[in-house]
Amino acid sequence: MTTNNSELRGMLLEEKARIEGQLAGVGHKNPDIAGDWEPSAPDLNDINADVNDVATEIEAFEGNAAIEVELEARLLEVDAALARIEVGTYGICRVCGSAIEDNRLHANPAAPTCIAHREG
Ligand SMILES: [Zn+2]
Repeated sequence: MTTNNSELRGMLLEEKARIEGQLAGVGHKNPDIAGDWEPSAPDLNDINADVNDVATEIEAFEGNAAIEVELEARLLEVDAALARIEVGTYGICRVCGSAIEDNRLHANPAAPTCIAHREG
């Protein structure tokens, strides 16, 4: 394999740090499940809040929840790719077992499949 794993590992670690920073803006780590994040809930206990404020808060929460789910899914992919580097299976298509193209890995270092077996 000609892929430079240390470079790709660096890209993955950078992306992981970026995602965790973004997650911290919309949610917080689930104290009960390692690696799980939950969207930050709005404070709806403020008895002085009027109905419009509450509606806005709930909308913001729903937006955060959607972003949080997306970021968490991406973080799982990045973590899985880092784990594959550790065990030596990184850069191998999980469908056909051949080497994943370098340009694909540079475009998406977390890619688990070759271009032919790309999902979606
Ligand atoms: Zn493949």
